[in-house]
Amino acid sequence: MLSFDQLTFAAEVADVKAFSLTRGLMQADDPYSAINLCHYTGDKPLHVTTGRAMLCDRLHIEPHCLVMPRQTHGCEVAVIDDRFMQLPQAEQQKSLEGIDALVTPLTGVCIGVNTADCVPIVMADLLTGLIAAAHAGWRGTVSRIAARVVQQMARLGADPAQIQAAIGVSICQRCFEVGDEVAQQFRDAGFDLRRIMRRNRLTGKAHINLQRANAIVLQQAGLPVEHIAIAGTCPHCHPERYFSARHLGINSGRTFTGIIRQPSVIINLNSIKR
Ligand SMILES: [Zn+2]
Repeated sequence: MLSFDQLTFAAEVADVKAFSLTRGLMQADDPYSAINLCHYTGDKPLHVTTGRAMLCDRLHIEPHCLVMPRQTHGCEVAVIDDRFMQLPQAEQQKSLEGIDALVTPLTGVCIGVNTADCVPIVMADLLTGLIAAAHAGWRGTVSRIAARVVQQMARLGADPAQIQAAIGVSICQRCFEVGDEVAQQFRDAGFDLRRIMRRNRLTGKAHINLQRANAIVLQQAGLPVEHIAIAGTCPHCHPERYFSARHLGINSGRTFTGIIRQPSVIINLNSIKR
């Protein structure tokens, strides 16, 4: 049984649904339970395929209409268009290697990213109908992947001032302790550490607020602050509900965050059981 968290934008975006899968009925000794759609973090292919089939079934789409990249903490963005959809499967997979964000103008195609502590970001543009999903770990945040997605959407006709963004389930500032060398990378990349970092009084360790850092990146890319919803909770605080790599190790499942544009007559996530 699939269970979802709906991801809501600050304003209603017609016919667009965004969500994160929750772990469901997990077994404590299985770091991939119950549902994991990520194919490159050590899970059995059959388990991954089964989970994907369940999601496609629920979304009323064919398996090839569920598209997710093989992420590498880079900042490459791929566009999923008709040309991509017509490629043979092997070529599709090849073009999804080393990609950390997807943009699509297509209706009925669910794009998404897999994360466990890192930040999933979904975006939608009302006028062009473009939707996007991005994975921003601290490296992706430092290299401003969210801004690259906005730029790609703008190249396809979107006005950044009209784009809605929602930042999903990801590690909270209290849990995200980092070494000073990581904080330094944010500083070197031009981030104002006073806005995104604080030190633990007892340990002296730096803690970064990744959600706020990405919200700043989105604002700098032209999104109005009121178009940025910070919607998710922390997987490290709630490992029974979401996969957390800091909790389970990197050989574990990932939380799939997806977005799809489809007439609401066909799909209604509101009716999906929590
Ligand atoms: Zn936390």
